[in-house]
Amino acid sequence: MSGDCDFGLIGLAVMGENLALNVESRGYKVAVYNRTTSKVDELIEGRAKGKNFVGTHTLEDFVAAVARPRKLMMLVKAGPAVDAIIDSLIPLCDEGDIIIDGGNTYYVDTERRTKLVEEAGLLYVGAGVSGGEEGALKGPSLMPGGTEAAWPHIKDMFQSIAAKVGPNNDIPCCEWVGPRGAGHYVKMVHNGIEYGDMQLICEAYQLLHELGGLSNEELYDVFAKWNEGVLQSYLIEITRDIFSAKDDQGGDGFLVDQILDVAGAKGTGKWMSQLALDLGVPSTLVTTAVFARGLSAQKEARTRASKKLNGPTDSNNPEMSALAKSLVGDKAAFVQAVHDALYASKIVSYAQGFVQLQAASAEHDWGLDYGQSALLWRGGCIIRAQFLDRIKEAFDEQPNLENLLLYPYFEEAVENAQSGWRAVVSAASLLGIPVPAFSAALNYFDGYRLERLPANLLQAQRDYFGAHTYQRVDREGTFHSEWLDLR
Ligand code: NAP
Repeated sequence: MSGDCDFGLIGLAVMGENLALNVESRGYKVAVYNRTTSKVDELIEGRAKGKNFVGTHTLEDFVAAVARPRKLMMLVKAGPAVDAIIDSLIPLCDEGDIIIDGGNTYYVDTERRTKLVEEAGLLYVGAGVSGGEEGALKGPSLMPGGTEAAWPHIKDMFQSIAAKVGPNNDIPCCEWVGPRGAGHYVKMVHNGIEYGDMQLICEAYQLLHELGGLSNEELYDVFAKWNEGVLQSYLIEITRDIFSAKDDQGGDGFLVDQILDVAGAKGTGKWMSQLALDLGVPSTLVTTAVFARGLSAQKEARTRASKKLNGPTDSNNPEMSALAKSLVGDKAAFVQAVHDALYASKIVSYAQGFVQLQAASAEHDWGLDYGQSALLWRGGCIIRAQFLDRIKEAFDEQPNLENLLLYPYFEEAVENAQSGWRAVVSAASLLGIPVPAFSAALNYFDGYRLERLPANLLQAQRDYFGAHTYQRVDREGTFHSEWLDLR
């Protein structure tokens, strides 16, 4: 039995409820189900009242309410809940029905589930959804992958609910990404880049605040100005606004100053870091950002250490201190240098993200389109930024571009930013302010642009203690030496 709903949604927490409302607002009839059925009733009696919804209390009724081929989307807690729901849905569905997982799922699970669902005669889609609850309601970035035959069935609906960009605001941030877990992988890299962007912004904040002495009002003005230039992005925009938010608990200061300096994480940055290690690609911005959150979480240990460990002082290093102060002494020049450090580091971060996507695509044979990924992130999602247009251009022009740093636009941008970038990293280091992401980015840049690294010595060491062999610069082949005999 099938009903007349165009779409079914399971999971009525913030994301699911908002996405269901978004779908309905585009002219579709939507069936909804949630494990705790009172949430179904709350929605139907509340925000969905008078709208084209069908509330259901069992999965049987839910599946029966949707027209074939059914489009049934889960927006539930990632992990075992998704497996449990798939197992329950399969016997209730008919051949050709489509099961969609819109959660933050680990892509390996999506690879496995695509196979399982396809073997049951159904189609499976693992769709990255970004933009938080507001995005889900007003237009998220959608990154669907899985069984390609599902795409023609869901394309119109997905593209209608997605964020739109472009001069006429009509290019949807939703395209088919690739087979199996490709969509969830691209979403994970989006989240990893988000980790990097946030860490870089936080480092800029600490520098401007502690070294530059900028007040929250001044920080507001700086971020407002930055948001009108090459750094224009959602994260810069909300950071600007954060600096104007007053304490909502009765204090007369700013809320940001009352927030404990302990960062949480849900795991997508960790996944990207782990997978970068597996692939052997140096995605150092995301790993650094994950570790920085980890260090922030060691609040008690840091508080104890802060009472014992000393950084540089004027008296123990007067020359360095004078040098560093000359780097930060001119406020306007220092703000510009921090801007340049942030911009150059951000370019490196995206370059690393795309290198990881390229490596993963090659390993899994996904055939990813990198310009398209940049477009998917152009609107709706947390890392949305004007500069993604340039990344799209870069990959549209050179689909096999090895590294964004080699694209003339970014090559020139980093060239122009590098003196400020280096000054900021040097001053921070001389004055004892941690800038792990700014310096990781600079180290990657310097390592990547050097033809010769000290790995010759490293290979010598490996061969010395473990006979791991080495290659030579002057002839083909693999060599091993008896190092003790060569002294
Ligand atoms: P969530 O807190 O991750 O999950 C809550 C939902 O999952 C509820 O509907 C809950 O049902 C259901 N659920 C949990 N365990 C279940 C089980 N064993 N069987 C059936 N249902 C189960 O909700 P969310 O924040 O809306 O996120 C949904 C998905 O989107 C997640 O994968 C999340 O990572 C992803 N996501 C979230 C955001 C965001 O900003 N929140 C952004 C992008 C992506 P009950 O009501 O019965 O507990």
